[in-house]
Amino acid sequence: MPALPPDVDPLRVGRVAVRAGIVVTGTEVLTGRVADRNGPWLAERLRERGVDVGHVVVVGDRPDDLRDALTFLAGTDVALILTSGGLGPTADDLTAEVVAAFQGRPVSLDAGLEKRIGGIVERLMARRGWRADRQATAAGVRKQAMVPEGATVLEPVGTAAGLVVPPADGRTGPPVLVLPGPPSELQAMWPAAIAAPSAGRALGNPGELRQGTIRLWGTLESQLAATLREHEPELDGLEITTCLRDGELEIVTRFAPGAQPAYDRLSAVLAEDYADTLFSSGPTVDDLVAGALAERGSTVATAESCTGGLLAARLTGRAGSSQWMLGGVVAYANSAKEALLDVPAGLLAERGAVSPEVAAAMADGARARFGADVGVGITGIAGPDGGTPGKPVGTVHLCAVGPDGRRARSLVVPGSRAAVRERSVTVAMQLLRLLLLGGPEV
Ligand code: ATP
Ligand code: MG
Repeated sequence: MPALPPDVDPLRVGRVAVRAGIVVTGTEVLTGRVADRNGPWLAERLRERGVDVGHVVVVGDRPDDLRDALTFLAGTDVALILTSGGLGPTADDLTAEVVAAFQGRPVSLDAGLEKRIGGIVERLMARRGWRADRQATAAGVRKQAMVPEGATVLEPVGTAAGLVVPPADGRTGPPVLVLPGPPSELQAMWPAAIAAPSAGRALGNPGELRQGTIRLWGTLESQLAATLREHEPELDGLEITTCLRDGELEIVTRFAPGAQPAYDRLSAVLAEDYADTLFSSGPTVDDLVAGALAERGSTVATAESCTGGLLAARLTGRAGSSQWMLGGVVAYANSAKEALLDVPAGLLAERGAVSPEVAAAMADGARARFGADVGVGITGIAGPDGGTPGKPVGTVHLCAVGPDGRRARSLVVPGSRAAVRERSVTVAMQLLRLLLLGGPEV
């Protein structure tokens, strides 16, 4: 078996053909005040066309940083660079200028575009009843109509035009597709962007990339890496990435249609080697639980202590959950566990609130009080205080009970208070899946 070079992530096998890079601009995105919705959206649209995105680079509103990002991406063998944001009328909107300089193209005023943007701005201001300094508005419009020579203009959806800027004559490098920041504007401009000949040429004929997802619960990433290495010669043409989240190992594989047999082989290998932990070839655990409850016509109720209602929130986060979710109790204090869930005071005194027995009693209590088919109980110590040598922070006991029996789990989850709570909810979902759909206890 050929050894992988040490600098290659062993879980990424193979590489798909045409590649593109994305620069998301905006200090608000860099700092996390606004979550990036453009990078992932563009990456997904490109993937549908058979184009692979290797990097989404986020930069603040600083020209040097944007220039560095463009230089970096141009050096990664991409056919196209896409940018989002920084096309507005204000001084911190500088993407068009920086991209023009990067491609070696001077900017000049597009008088027709200036008129069209002027009209849009006027109508917008009239509609909203805004009054503004005429001169300042005109300067903003003029700025937005400065176009790199030789660039293709994509008509504004909001007030900003998009651009396709190829490198100046005599230069090499990928064209840059410049798109506005507001996600609705960017998305509305996408069809025109991709229809522009210079962008279309760079991306080549649309090819299809397929994607498959396999999910394991209870397998270590290192173990999976060893399996993939062992079978590497049979997995040619697959790009496999893995993500460990709340104890679930998600394996996402992208491949061209020609590599379908290799993907089928991967599926077969995983099904055989991980028969005990492979729980899905697509749907999430939430999909499986919701589907099973709906199909059986069963109902569920929750009793939560350390997760404070997060399980109920996750269950009710799904459209249609009113069909099977009856309700939940957040019973934080012992008195609440007794009064609302009929957990015996003696049990609480004898075993302590954080114990397998109390988790089971809470599940029974929720089931009985709500008259549900299935009850779930969660009790634990989310931390950072409150641990003891016998019950360290992160100790969580869970139980799911239904007509066919019960599934229970006790764990010590590492990490922060938030991590303990999130992981506990996922484990509860997994217990529900095991209770409703069966499967080996892991
Ligand atoms: P505008 O004319 O509105 O200034 P613009 O093209 O200059 O448009 P930005 O200034 O970068 O775009 O962003 C405007 C707003 O759009 C941001 O304040 C933010 O609310 C939203 N936005 C921008 N980029 C993103 C992103 N990547 N993900 C989510 N929202 C974004
Ligand atoms: Mg802006």
